[in-house]
Amino acid sequence: MKLAYLLAAILWSVTVSAQDYTPTAANISHHIEFLASDAMKGRGTGSKQNEKAAKYVAKQFKKYHLTPLGTKGYQQPFTAKVRRVVVKDSLRPTKNIIGFLDNGAAHTIVIGAHFDHLGEGRQGSSKEENPEGKIHNGADDNASGVAGMLELARYFSSNDVKEPYNFLFIGFGAEELGLLGSRHFVANPTLPLANINFMTNMDMIGRYNPTRGVGIGGYGTSPSWPQIFEGVSGGVRFFTDKAGSGGSDHGSFYAKQIPVLFFHTGGHDDYHKPTDDSDKIDAKAAEEILKIQIQLIEKSFDIPKLEFSEVK
Ligand SMILES: [Zn+2]
Repeated sequence: MKLAYLLAAILWSVTVSAQDYTPTAANISHHIEFLASDAMKGRGTGSKQNEKAAKYVAKQFKKYHLTPLGTKGYQQPFTAKVRRVVVKDSLRPTKNIIGFLDNGAAHTIVIGAHFDHLGEGRQGSSKEENPEGKIHNGADDNASGVAGMLELARYFSSNDVKEPYNFLFIGFGAEELGLLGSRHFVANPTLPLANINFMTNMDMIGRYNPTRGVGIGGYGTSPSWPQIFEGVSGGVRFFTDKAGSGGSDHGSFYAKQIPVLFFHTGGHDDYHKPTDDSDKIDAKAAEEILKIQIQLIEKSFDIPKLEFSEVK
């Protein structure tokens, strides 16, 4: 009898662990609720809470056994400059958080998302009339993308598959101040840019609107994307957009002639306002977006390193 229980327990654990690694809405919500809570004060660049968000990302990377690939462990510190508004403390220390999944491959796929947001409205680009002192939680922008990046890190590091590409996961700092973290990374890469196959960026994947669908940008940045996209579908609708630059961190990689994909659920009334809150996030849809991204990434394994094409 005891043996039967033991066998049942083993069987159960094997069954569970076989599915354990796929992204879940519950995990996505968990990350977003932490990062976009009032206690995190909007993760403004240079703030204590921005540092706390960076540490949170690093803690997950460690949990997934990623190799630190910053300049100081997982961290790649840099100084960000506030230019959009005049403030006394315009120079603010922050960092990128970088973790590597080494599959012994020649080339690497970069998966990124920025963890900073507008803090308490004292760094410019708020859409609120009097933003100073109001917490801009940034649940969609971009706790949602960070949650997605972390779930993909968990997936690729725990799926018991040795993919034919390595992965570099990056939480970018200071995106809201002008893509500063991603620009800093491509100017000071911790692995040769020539070894990067392509880069995927998630910025705002939490407000799925079924009539619009999920936008996937970067379709024009490699002649291989049409083949990779063929037959891909999932629990949410999506459309493609050719543009490789514009609006977020993938633009820094595109500028270095690296193919990109950019996942985005679109603008809304709470964009860059204190009301971009966790309770408005559609985590189930975000889970489906990640599953589509996994399909695309895994389909790219059949193809050698992607060729870059400029979008005219
Ligand atoms: Zn953003």
